[in-house]
Amino acid sequence: MFRSAPRSSRSDTSHQHASAPSRAEFVRSHPEGTLVEPPHARTMSKVVMVTGGTGLVGSGIQEAIAAEGDAAKDEKWIYLSSKDGNLCDPAEVAAIFDKYQPTHVIHLAAQVGGLFANMKHKVQFWRNNVMMNDNIFQECHKRGVKKLVSCLSTCIFPDKTTFPINETMIHDGPPHYSNEGYAYAKRMVDVQNRMYKSQYGCNFTAVIPTNIFGKHDNFHLEDSHVIPGLIHRGMICKKEGKDFEIWGSGTPLRQFIYNVDLAKLMIWTMREYEEADPIILSVGEEDEITIKDVAYAVAKALDFPKEKVKFDTSKADGQFKKTADNSKLRKYLPDFKFTPFEEAMDTTVKWFIENYDVPGAVRGAVPK
Ligand code: NAP
Ligand code: GDP
Repeated sequence: MFRSAPRSSRSDTSHQHASAPSRAEFVRSHPEGTLVEPPHARTMSKVVMVTGGTGLVGSGIQEAIAAEGDAAKDEKWIYLSSKDGNLCDPAEVAAIFDKYQPTHVIHLAAQVGGLFANMKHKVQFWRNNVMMNDNIFQECHKRGVKKLVSCLSTCIFPDKTTFPINETMIHDGPPHYSNEGYAYAKRMVDVQNRMYKSQYGCNFTAVIPTNIFGKHDNFHLEDSHVIPGLIHRGMICKKEGKDFEIWGSGTPLRQFIYNVDLAKLMIWTMREYEEADPIILSVGEEDEITIKDVAYAVAKALDFPKEKVKFDTSKADGQFKKTADNSKLRKYLPDFKFTPFEEAMDTTVKWFIENYDVPGAVRGAVPK
């Protein structure tokens, strides 16, 4: 694992001390209601609870933490799925906090989908995400959680803007109409971070990843993001000897980050990043590629003939581009190495094919 600062600071006693709220801090951040001193105020252990811990990004965090071995031993990691409770329900969220008593929270759970799911279910994308976020923020505040890291997305950025976009430009204009439910719900997280800091002094922040892909993605044929959707459809077209149909013109541009790379950066954010203002977690502008490049990369990884890749221009293109500026990240972590796109694509495709017929292993799979 890379470091931006010596890790000894995480294992010395004073830092562990700093990770649990003092009683005075807890009282300050909990002005209304009954004061219940959280157990971690006494034990000083670091309990990191990851909401949405079974999804694409959560699985990446599980893999990255497992790879750290002993390095993470002063932290207890808890990965939640929707089976642990519905985060849209305040009572269920409170019960989860009662059970796990987190000192730190990485909030990934969200209603997530690709362009076509966002266009179909705008109201659900707005309501479910607003409810989950509001419940998590309020519970983290009430319990004196030391740090909350939430997850925004570059698709919440203004559609009509100058490029590249940086962290200061989130609210500078309306998002693309296709995903306005999701985008406005996510934009509010940035507002919530500032409000909870200003009123209660909470240490809450957010990351802004670009398009993500990797193992454990949602490979649903219609509602997924472009890479898992194309891997699934490409595999079927190959089996059936059909043309591989790509939706839209193939001209839109995207920056893709491998889920395990993003996971490492989010773990760093949780441990080291102290700003309330968000940080873009992305490959550089030079790594932006077209959907056409993506389609050919998927075809190559599936060993599918390039000449059978066709573009259906009757389908939507979505936002043309959302080029993100990663210079803030580079100031903190100039040496971070991203996994090369083709290598990450090969790993993802191999995992998908190996697990496709394993019952329950691949979300969105339709095994025979
Ligand atoms: P994902 O694979 O769809 O996983 C979503 C996770 O949230 C799952 O663990 C799911 O649990 C949980 N969840 C959903 N609704 C819930 C509810 N009502 N109550 C409790 N848990 C619930 O999502 P992801 O791609 O890992 O996304 C993680 C974060 O990254 C999200 O905040 C998303 O907005 C952001 N993001 C994603 C992308 C991308 O390209 N995927 C890009 C930028 C930002 P179950 O598995 O049990 O359903
Ligand atoms: P976005 O980056 O938020 O727009 O999300 P997506 O991951 O859904 O990417 C959308 C882009 O990929 C658009 O330009 C689509 O036209 C294109 N695309 C091509 N084939 C597919 C597909 O099978 N699924 C999805 N979601 N998008 C596709």
